[in-house]
Amino acid sequence: MVRREKCPSCGALCEYDDRSVWEGNREREEFKCPECGYVLDVVFTDQLPHVRVIEKGTKKQNKESVGNE
Ligand SMILES: [Zn+2]
Repeated sequence: MVRREKCPSCGALCEYDDRSVWEGNREREEFKCPECGYVLDVVFTDQLPHVRVIEKGTKKQNKESVGNE
């Protein structure tokens, strides 16, 4: 099933498929936001976690302004 999730960290709209093709051989896979690396979901699946960004987030990551006054 294809799910759409909005990343709570950066606001990007992400789409991923959490269905499993094969029975057995499943592992817990982390579906991470490609924009910021936030773990959107942990799914028990045999697929490789592939997350697609549909819409880029509007929230900015203030990586460079840390310590700025
Ligand atoms: Zn994100």
